[in-house]
Amino acid sequence: MFRAMWRFLRRAAILFWRAVRLRCPNCGGGPIFDGWLRMRTHCPRCGLALERGEQGYQVGSYMFAIIAAELIFGAIFLSILLLTWPDPPWDLLLYGGMLLMVVVPFVFFPFSKTLFLAFDLVFRPARAEELGGRRAQAVS
Ligand SMILES: [Zn+2]
Repeated sequence: MFRAMWRFLRRAAILFWRAVRLRCPNCGGGPIFDGWLRMRTHCPRCGLALERGEQGYQVGSYMFAIIAAELIFGAIFLSILLLTWPDPPWDLLLYGGMLLMVVVPFVFFPFSKTLFLAFDLVFRPARAEELGGRRAQAVS
């Protein structure tokens, strides 16, 4: 039980660490982006279809980007509010918050794609047919 749980958590940590570095979560290979906003269709090393051949797959990564933007905004907003209380800079919070809501999703965009792919791979490991005939490089 603990051994299986440990293996699952170790595998998840490896997949997310690769994703944070904008590498293929499945094998750690790359580059998997052509520029900041354009992800390749397949990993150049393991051949994994990076959108896993499903329609609407991007909705999950958009969800990750929105959650990240909200969490970052909330953390910065609360920090400034608490550090400057009882006289918070409301104009900075208003306009800075608006700026953050535009900038953070753009900056976080490629990470949202790789992190969602890692999240998906944790629960649905790549099957051999997804790797374009190449051997699966599973994390054990
Ligand atoms: Zn790969």
